[in-house]
Amino acid sequence: MSDKINMYGLSLEELEEQMEKLGQKKFRAKQLYSWLYRFNVDSFDDMTDISKSFREVLKERYTLTLPKIYTKQMSDDGTIKLLLELEDGHKVETVLMHYFYGDSVCVSSEVGCNMGCKFCASGLLKKVRGLDASEMMGQVLIINQLLRPLKRKVTHVVVMGTGEPFDNYDNVMSFIKAVNSQFGLDIGARHITVSTAGVVPGILKYGKEGLQINLAISLHAPLDEVRNKLMPINQAYPLDQVMAAVDQYFADSNRQVTFEYIMIKDLNDTDECLKALIDLIKPRHGFVNLIPYNEVMENDFRRSSNNRVHKFHDALLKAGIKSTIRKEFGSDIDAACGQLRARYEHK
Ligand code: SAH
Repeated sequence: MSDKINMYGLSLEELEEQMEKLGQKKFRAKQLYSWLYRFNVDSFDDMTDISKSFREVLKERYTLTLPKIYTKQMSDDGTIKLLLELEDGHKVETVLMHYFYGDSVCVSSEVGCNMGCKFCASGLLKKVRGLDASEMMGQVLIINQLLRPLKRKVTHVVVMGTGEPFDNYDNVMSFIKAVNSQFGLDIGARHITVSTAGVVPGILKYGKEGLQINLAISLHAPLDEVRNKLMPINQAYPLDQVMAAVDQYFADSNRQVTFEYIMIKDLNDTDECLKALIDLIKPRHGFVNLIPYNEVMENDFRRSSNNRVHKFHDALLKAGIKSTIRKEFGSDIDAACGQLRARYEHK
């Protein structure tokens, strides 16, 4: 890797500072940002309103490096799943899901993950390192390149790929700010979601950012004894601490939280769990996203029957809790989280 700076990793403020140091006016940064994110050029030579001599200065100091597409899977339902190769050879997964309301990219935040959730294929590979902001931005830009011939572009970003975003907090926040910036990708805060396994200090910090970005909590069980079986992080931050942080987050940001709930047969889909789930969420401004479990070959967990999923959904609605059943994507490709990279690493 060169010691040049990858410009895709800089927030607008950082770029402004750097331009001033180079003796330029501040507006240069906005001009560069619009080339990168509005006109999607990936070479300084294409920036036609910047003088040739200053383009040379930029080339000496900066790169515009994007990850490389290592494998690409396309599903009949419009899902695109990429395994991307980073500059140091590590690989991360990125998924595009095509909804009626737009195109949503699921971004990975780390190479591997230390959360070790028992049901998840990503967690089989321990964290190697966090991604920097340019590597997260690169995932979105590559998808935009693939969508351009279709006259579409990314409209939603979810940081729900491999990794724990709050284990890589600062880089994730710089990335999100560039996605959200009106001079950057200009994707509205309400179209951006960060999902955490329940890292309490991250939840508290996130609530104080003053942004309107969505927060999702991977709940998956309403009782400590069940959650302990699924998510080792529950030992460090048990449910009462996670819920206290969620309440503080709501007090600080006035934003409702989404609780993700993967439904696994005979584990967290029992009547006892249903009752506890209602008791936990009802007093809060929460939204429950029920997720039919994506079976992976690395463990023995089985997905709940459709009946069970619908029973949970109906009971939540009846209790006055907003809830949806997550639509499934890409069932004809390696759809489950982390499967693609896990399969590649096994080879
Ligand atoms: N570490 C963060 C973000 C990555 S996981 C978090 O825990 O939220 C993103 C989401 O995918 C989480 O809700 C996770 O629990 C879920 N997930 C992981 N493996 C899955 C599987 N096999 N089927 C369905 N959802 C899964």
